[in-house]
Amino acid sequence: MEVQAETEHQPFSRRYHNEQACMEALITMKWPNGFVCPRCAHTRCSRLTSRRVPLFECARCAHQTSALVGTMFERTHLPLTKWFQALELFLLPDGISAMRLSQVIQVTYKTAWVMLQKIRHALGEFNSRELLCGDVKVNSDLYGCNPSRPQFPHPHASAVVAGCTVTESGEPEQVKIRLVPQMRGDGHGANRHELAVFINEQVDVRASAVQSFPQAYRLYRPLRKVVREAWTSLKSTYVALGPKHLQAYLNEYTGRRRLRLSEAEGTMWKKLLYIGVAIPAITYRRLIARQPDQPLAAAS
Ligand SMILES: [Zn+2]
Repeated sequence: MEVQAETEHQPFSRRYHNEQACMEALITMKWPNGFVCPRCAHTRCSRLTSRRVPLFECARCAHQTSALVGTMFERTHLPLTKWFQALELFLLPDGISAMRLSQVIQVTYKTAWVMLQKIRHALGEFNSRELLCGDVKVNSDLYGCNPSRPQFPHPHASAVVAGCTVTESGEPEQVKIRLVPQMRGDGHGANRHELAVFINEQVDVRASAVQSFPQAYRLYRPLRKVVREAWTSLKSTYVALGPKHLQAYLNEYTGRRRLRLSEAEGTMWKKLLYIGVAIPAITYRRLIARQPDQPLAAAS
């Protein structure tokens, strides 16, 4: 039931090259201290291995469950090896487009798009539960300014409110970037009201010292740098992002940045796997309902 300790230091591709290794990793992630029945909390079970996905039957109430229930991987028809590869590629410094992912792991474009949306959803949900707390800076900024020509915002630059916690040396740690959708393209940043809304929703104000920067010419520079890096990174991976999808991609960027910042290279994907196990999958119907565009029309 446990991943062998001696495999801990092997490269990802060698450790998770077959279904069984991936499944055991998921089981360990789901029940780190051994099986717990989701219905009656009993801890003894028998394992039925005749199916593709092993079932665990509770020894007390006979409830059957698998390690995939309630996770991002529930009801997937894909080999777990492909999912694990997708998680690893998602964590590349600039992420991966659905087109590229479909080529690398040999699935259709639509399948790759849905996989990435599911990973994006899990990461976004996970991070949205955590408020900014501590020494917090909040900027009214524009997303879409070319760093080399900051005085000329892109005609479609979007007003955003960006907030972060900072380390002792003043570097942004946890970052959140929120679009102000109704203020797209007019060259103006978010106003004081928008900043107040952001602080109210995204900051644990009782436990934080909040400093806000509402004026474009006097922003908290290290945080402005992150917003520009987000633009550069997303632009390099996703050719064109419509406003409808932009918030999800910004969440992806800040989520990935946080994982890369706080986790060692080898454990980043493990954290992402943990998130995938902790957050139930978004259904395809909800995914589409939330984004009225046809998935194939999304330039991702
Ligand atoms: Zn039970």
